Order: sequence, then C-alpha cells, then structure tokens
Amino acid sequence: MADKVDKKAATADRSDKADRADRVEKTDAEWRATLTPEQYEVLRQKGTERAFSGPLWNAHEDAAYLCAGCGAELFSSDAKFDSGTGWPSFTAPAAAGAVATETDASHGMMRTEVCCRRCGGHLGHLFDDGPAPTGQRYCINSASLRAAKPK
Ligand code: FE
Repeated sequence: MADKVDKKAATADRSDKADRADRVEKTDAEWRATLTPEQYEVLRQKGTERAFSGPLWNAHEDAAYLCAGCGAELFSSDAKFDSGTGWPSFTAPAAAGAVATETDASHGMMRTEVCCRRCGGHLGHLFDDGPAPTGQRYCINSASLRAAKPK
C-alpha cells in the first residue's frame, strides 16, 4: 500500500516539474552570473521583495510578463489587477502550464508557492482571495518578471 502511495506522489511530482522539453537548468554559479542580485534573491533563494518597492506592482501598460530567469511567458496584463498589496497581482497565469505550484510551509504559514515551470524559479505565492473571474490571486515579485511587448 505504501508503495502505491509513494509511486503516485512521484508521478505527480514528475508531471508538475519535469514535463517541459524546453526545461532550463543552470548551476547556482550560472544563475548568480546571469541574474541581478534582486532577481537571484527572489528566483533562486525564494526571497520576497518589499511591498511597493518593485517596478511592476503599479504597471498598467499592455504587456506580456516573462520569467526574468528563463524568458518563459508567465503572465499577461489581461489578468493583472490592482490588489493593493504592493506586488504585481494576477487572476491567472498566461497559460495553464506556465507555472507550477507547491506547498510552502516556511515562516510558520501554510502557503502555496508559485514557480516558473520552465526553470523552477520562485515567483511568489497563490491565494484564493482574488477577484473574478477565477477568485485567485497570484502574488508575484516584480524581480521575478520582465515586462515585454504583448504578442
Ligand atoms: Fe523561468
């Protein structure tokens, strides 16, 4: 019985994290060399930028938001809303497979961590107190994103 459960868990993990053919993997030294200190702190160390400190929480231009680590398209201005939190907030990712979620039990809280599915970089957290149409709030660090022209 335990074997069955373990196998199931392993399968779920694989489908969530390793199902992209274009997966990006780099060593810690490579990430340090290619990211700014702020990007590295958030994406690779699961840091959180101070509220209202990033460049994108108050951005309203039409944009595609790409992963600052690997360039994957993660979010769109179409789903961006003013959450009042001081972090860029979205009701949904750009595509269902763009991000992965994991349980995060750090800092004495039970939260859902949001990561880039392509490079594994930490983006922020997911809460269920968002507005319509999804009721979800993807609370994302500006440092993990790069705004680009929409496609
Ligand atoms: Fe990425």
